[in-house]
Amino acid sequence: MKPTPAPLGLYIHIPFCKSKCAYCDFYSLPRSEDRMDDYTDALCAHLAETAPFASDRLVDTVYFGGGTPSYLGVKRLEKILKVILKKYKVAKDAEITLEANPDSAGDWKALRSLRKCGFNRLSLGMQSADDAELAEIGRVHTMAQVTDAVEAARKAKFENLSLDLIYGLPRQTAERWQASLSAAADLGPEHLSCYGLKVEEGTPLFARRDTAGLPGDEAQADMYLYTVEFLRAHGYEQYEISNFAKPGFASRHNLKYWTLGEYAGFGPGAHSDFGGVRYAYEKDLEGYIRGVRSHAPMLAESERIPPLDRDTEWIMLGLRTAAGLDPKVFENRFRRRFSCFLPFLDQCVRAGYAEETDGRWHLTPRGFLVSNQIIGGMLDALAEDKRRRAEAAARGDFRVELD
Ligand code: SF4
Repeated sequence: MKPTPAPLGLYIHIPFCKSKCAYCDFYSLPRSEDRMDDYTDALCAHLAETAPFASDRLVDTVYFGGGTPSYLGVKRLEKILKVILKKYKVAKDAEITLEANPDSAGDWKALRSLRKCGFNRLSLGMQSADDAELAEIGRVHTMAQVTDAVEAARKAKFENLSLDLIYGLPRQTAERWQASLSAAADLGPEHLSCYGLKVEEGTPLFARRDTAGLPGDEAQADMYLYTVEFLRAHGYEQYEISNFAKPGFASRHNLKYWTLGEYAGFGPGAHSDFGGVRYAYEKDLEGYIRGVRSHAPMLAESERIPPLDRDTEWIMLGLRTAAGLDPKVFENRFRRRFSCFLPFLDQCVRAGYAEETDGRWHLTPRGFLVSNQIIGGMLDALAEDKRRRAEAAARGDFRVELD
């Protein structure tokens, strides 16, 4: 029997947007439409030349993210996906996601072409159901366009639809957030991502943060806890801090990031974790196009990480998921005892931040709110254990391995 090829996800970064939102610090460029054709050609060439390195992999997820992938236009998107389908072994049931903004996804005929070409999951950047809130953060769409885009997507036979929402927007009250969330659920998506607004340095929103009427941390935390309860009551399972899905609709691509699955990214700023190497391309559109054309270096960073050294990542990412950490997997994969975490995890249980269910350790919704502190505590426990064992080994005392 032939061995099953290892799975691989592909991430395609589309760094174009119609205009820049006030809170955005992603690598995306407004007013660069004239570079779309050259960029598409560069992506296609890069995908084709990388394909031989993935000849022993089965691509089971493809994700077009951005930026605004839908803004690239149907023809270019199809061209890129066709290269992937031709040059890579793509699983028949692969999840193929397109991120789209409601203002560039309302044409059902365009969506039908994309659906026919192979895209089977659509992720719409709704963000809010309130037009005033949308305008305040510089979004170029309205709620009416969200409704049109959802209708168009359904008509085009997209049966896996996700909506992105943001809570903690300027001047947003608890009631206004609840209304947005409720309006989103009424649209019947299979998946919802709800992110708390982060005001990133260097963005226009950061510059006016003191007068923007931003809800405080406590108000944001209440919005989050309400979200978890509301979505649970409406049939959505929480599978990650910010992600909720109807049963069977968790994003398989995003789960790769949180479970140390392999993925190869393409485009400026795209990250990869492939073949034991983690690497990222420079956030430079022109540099990327030139680099592909002339085979010049395009990497911003690259690091080979031995499998046994991925324990900290495994902890950090696993604690973001509702499934949490399986001690047996940790012990088999990293050849270390999980018991070093137990005193700290017991403290977390007493504080209502963590639970053990069916032998797995996971955070509660309240724990997700302070996940950075909990992850810090876990990593401290791991570092302390490693230090203790290194000291014991230096003394020639190997009994510590047996505890
Ligand atoms: S559409 Fe998305 S990527 Fe583009 S500017 Fe707005 S937040 Fe950033």
